[in-house]
Amino acid sequence: MIDELLFLGTGAAQAVPAIYSRGLDASRPDGARADKNLRTRSAFRLGRGHQIDAGPDYYMQSARERMSWFDLEHLFITHTHSDHFNFDGVLQKDISVENNGKPVTIHMSAPALRWFLSVWCYSRTLESPSNRDLDEARESFRPWFEFNVLPFFEWRTVGEIAVCGVPGTHTGRVPDDLAMNLLMELPDGFRMLYGLDTGYYDDETFSFLASTKLDMVVLDCTFGGRTDRGEFPAGHLDCASLVHVVARLVELGTITSDTPVYASHINPDQGLDHDGLARRFASEPYNILPAYDGLRVKPRITGRP
Ligand SMILES: [Zn+2]
Ligand SMILES: [Zn+2]
Repeated sequence: MIDELLFLGTGAAQAVPAIYSRGLDASRPDGARADKNLRTRSAFRLGRGHQIDAGPDYYMQSARERMSWFDLEHLFITHTHSDHFNFDGVLQKDISVENNGKPVTIHMSAPALRWFLSVWCYSRTLESPSNRDLDEARESFRPWFEFNVLPFFEWRTVGEIAVCGVPGTHTGRVPDDLAMNLLMELPDGFRMLYGLDTGYYDDETFSFLASTKLDMVVLDCTFGGRTDRGEFPAGHLDCASLVHVVARLVELGTITSDTPVYASHINPDQGLDHDGLARRFASEPYNILPAYDGLRVKPRITGRP
C-alpha cells in the first residue's frame, strides 16, 4: 500500500545554495542550515517501492529519511541529465551483500535508455557501440536490474500503480530525449502528475491532460522569481509561467483551483527563498505551495472537477 508521498529533493541541477556560492559556509549567517532553503537534487518517493529519479544526492536523501532502497522495485528516470540519473550510484545492487534478492526495474523513454546504454558501452571500450553491444549491455545488468521503455501517452501497470508518461518541453543530454513527465495512479484511484523537468506544455500534452482528473500536481519551478523568460517558456518554468500551467489545467477541467500544486526543482539565484515563493504563490487564486526536502504528503482524493 502506498500511503505516503515524499519529496526526497526539491532542487534543480545546482541544488540550493549553489556549491560555488558562500551559501553553505558557516561564516555566513544563513549558511549550512538544514531548513527549507537547503534543497538537494529533485527526487520523489511513492511508498517504499517506487521512486522517481535518483540524482547525485540519492544516498544522503535516503539516510536523512531513514528509508533505504531495500524495498525499491521501480525507479522512473525522467531524463538523462545527471541531477536526475546518477547511474553509477543506482547500478550497485550486484555488489550489495545484503539485498532483497529481487530486481529493480528502471523505467525511462526509449531515447533515454539508448543514451544510457551507449554511454555505458563507450565508457568501457572507448569505441562506438553497435546495436548488439547495446542489447548485450542491457542484458548484462540482469538479474539485478531490468530496463523498461515507457511510451508517451499510454498507461501501463507498474507494480501497484498505473503510470503514463507525457512529454515535457525539456530535453536531456541528447536532443531526442524529451523529459518524461509522469501521470501516476495509486490503487485507490488517487491520481497525480509529476511534472518536471518541463517548461510550458505543448498543446498535445495539454489535450491529453484534459482527458484526466488529478488530485495533486508537482511542477517545475526552476527559475522561481525571475521575470525575464517570457510568458510561456520552454525548458523550465518560473513562478509566473507555472501559474499559467495551473490556470490552463483548471480551464481544461484537469484540476480545480483547490487542487494542491507543489512547486519543485528550484534554482538558487532566482530571487526567492522558500518563504518568498510561498508569499508569491499566496497571491494567486490557486492552491500552489513550494515543496521542500523531506516534505511528506498523504495521497488524498480531492474534490475533482
Ligand atoms: Zn533537472
Ligand atoms: Zn534536466
